[in-house]
Amino acid sequence: MADTKKSIIVLGGSYAGVSIAHNLLKHAIPNLPSKESYEVVLISTTSQAMCRPACPRALISDDLFDQSRLFVSIPEQFKQYGANFRFIQGTATELDHSARVITFDLKAGGTEKLPFHALVIATGAATASPLLGFTGDEDGLRASWAEFRKALPAAKSIVVAGGGPTGVETAGELGEHLNGRAGYLSSKLENPKVPITLVTAGSELLPILRTSLARKAEDMLTKVGVTVVKNARVTAVAPEHAGTGTVAAKTTVTLSTGKTLEADLYIPGCGTTPNTGFLSKDLLAADGRVDTNAATLRVDKAGPRIYAIGDVANYARPAVHLILAAVPVLAVNIKKDLLLDAGKDKAAVGEDRVYKEDTKETQMVPIGKSKGVGAGGGFALPSFMVWLIKGRDYWLWTVGKLWSGQQWNKEG
Ligand SMILES: Cc1cc2nc3c(=O)[nH]c(=O)nc-3n(C[C@H](O)[C@H](O)[C@H](O)COP(=O)(O)OP(=O)(O)OC[C@H]3O[C@@H](n4cnc5c(N)ncnc54)[C@H](O)[C@@H]3O)c2cc1C
Repeated sequence: MADTKKSIIVLGGSYAGVSIAHNLLKHAIPNLPSKESYEVVLISTTSQAMCRPACPRALISDDLFDQSRLFVSIPEQFKQYGANFRFIQGTATELDHSARVITFDLKAGGTEKLPFHALVIATGAATASPLLGFTGDEDGLRASWAEFRKALPAAKSIVVAGGGPTGVETAGELGEHLNGRAGYLSSKLENPKVPITLVTAGSELLPILRTSLARKAEDMLTKVGVTVVKNARVTAVAPEHAGTGTVAAKTTVTLSTGKTLEADLYIPGCGTTPNTGFLSKDLLAADGRVDTNAATLRVDKAGPRIYAIGDVANYARPAVHLILAAVPVLAVNIKKDLLLDAGKDKAAVGEDRVYKEDTKETQMVPIGKSKGVGAGGGFALPSFMVWLIKGRDYWLWTVGKLWSGQQWNKEG
């Protein structure tokens, strides 16, 4: 019976949660003394995993990606594990880390509580714009895209806020889609059909990348009808919920410079908010993410066998490649804790595995369907490579193995 088992609960069905659940089911559970007495329970607001980096292009039209690869059913991907796994579509609303019980609202209606033996917090972070990832479930994301797409053909001006990759990519995709691209010999696109303004508080775009690459990105944006406004923060928008509550409102955007911009569409593409509303404030770091041991990925303050991984946790900057490097570390440490709890000898289970963030300059930023800037492992990449690795399909080529768990066939 499911409820007599020791539950290892994973909260969040995206890069971090899906990966750690597969890894535990493949490598931890089978190695525990009585493996039938454990189950992995994945609780997620969304029943589908999605290639989130694809959102800046995917929001324009369903025709730009193979939808069956963009959205993948989580329960389908875990059928392979039989009774050792359960999926619950629901949203965690309260963690009582002392009583070791999680409370969640079910998508189907109602509220439930589950005690846990181990817990992995992998609830990620939400963008201000509901166009750029899951801020609710998959139906909410699709409804936002539908609202935006309906308004897009009539838009005469667009403002995007945020000089990081999300803002740059979104402005670039919209620019190329609506305006096309200036010829090889032109330095900018004259009289774009839909002028797009990209506003950044920074003195340069793309702060993770060196200035020369940021400037190259700016040039590429100019060629698709995007004007970059630097050193200006968006201080207010009217109506108040433009870009967040509604994605298709005519908006007045006020900047910290005192200037105002009128836009038919406004997209806030900067910053994310960690999904931690269900956690006690004691467990959070000053930046609002879960205060996580950066070496072991345990949440030391929360008690035994409670962990955090992915954008919700503060051990590293939010990026998929850093999550994928953290998964095997966390999985080994969870396995170790479970073995110790099951009575295994300390000497037999070995030492903790230690995570170390790779801080080398690594980021790829497509600008439309054929160009982009980026660096990998500290080396600048030519535009062609950025296209080949990311811009072609925004990483869709990588997620099949992740969602199915094949990526974790080896322990790490
Ligand atoms: C537009 C955009 C483009 C990006 N491009 C790149 C890129 O090219 N390369 C890169 O490395 N990174 C990129 N990132 C960052 C990358 O997407 C994140 O690092 C990654 O998605 C984080 O994965 P995660 O599993 O931690 O959380 P998320 O992807 O944020 O997913 C969180 C999951 O938890 C669920 N959830 C939330 N709250 C609850 C709750 N209370 N209870 C239960 N479930 C909950 C959500 O529904 C979701 O399924 C991009 C991000 C954005 C927004």
